[in-house]
Amino acid sequence: MFAKHLRYLQQEGWTTVLFRDLQNAQSLPEKSVVITFDDGYEDNYPGAFLPLMALGMKATWFIATDCIGGHAHWLGKPSTQTRMLTAERLLEMHAAGMEIASHTCSHPDLSLLSSDQQQFELSKAKAVLEDLLSTQVGSLAYPFGRFNSDSITIAEQTGYSMACTTRPGWFDSEPNPYLVRRIAIFSGDSASTLARKLSFADNDVSWKKMTRYYANRVWDKLRHTS
Ligand SMILES: [Zn+2]
Repeated sequence: MFAKHLRYLQQEGWTTVLFRDLQNAQSLPEKSVVITFDDGYEDNYPGAFLPLMALGMKATWFIATDCIGGHAHWLGKPSTQTRMLTAERLLEMHAAGMEIASHTCSHPDLSLLSSDQQQFELSKAKAVLEDLLSTQVGSLAYPFGRFNSDSITIAEQTGYSMACTTRPGWFDSEPNPYLVRRIAIFSGDSASTLARKLSFADNDVSWKKMTRYYANRVWDKLRHTS
């Protein structure tokens, strides 16, 4: 399904860019899309990295550094589904042009931590990845999409240039670079659901909501012409 999504993006003329490329968004092609993965599950290697490589496309992975080569502890008992990418895989993906970025160390809900604890999570994860990849890491995704006003300040203070949330919307609809929006694509989403999510920059593209959207548009039009 992911390979199908990629072929759809390619057919429609979308260019994949990295999350960090958004710092110079003006220089990007108009139909640019950033594909992001949170956590860094081992199955992302065959399921996403290899299909991306086959089509010459790229993506950004947000990695919880304590879990590299281990398990996603927040998902409960370890299983094949909770297994995370190893350092060797991350190095290979980085060398192939993928962006490996920060998702903190231990994948906490940042909004529940003190500012000292947040500082530790953000700065250590950055240092661990920079050490592993021998490159600067300036991109962050908040675990569970949860953060508070401290998180934004600390992300900036600890040297990140951008951070993404799980709030839906276009990149350019949000002026704060530490509150970048994105839409969620699930394994069950068909290519046509992906197409609707892309056109509306929204997670809810049920026909009920779409019908409401078009009804409102017609209503607006009627009001403006009357
Ligand atoms: Zn996560």
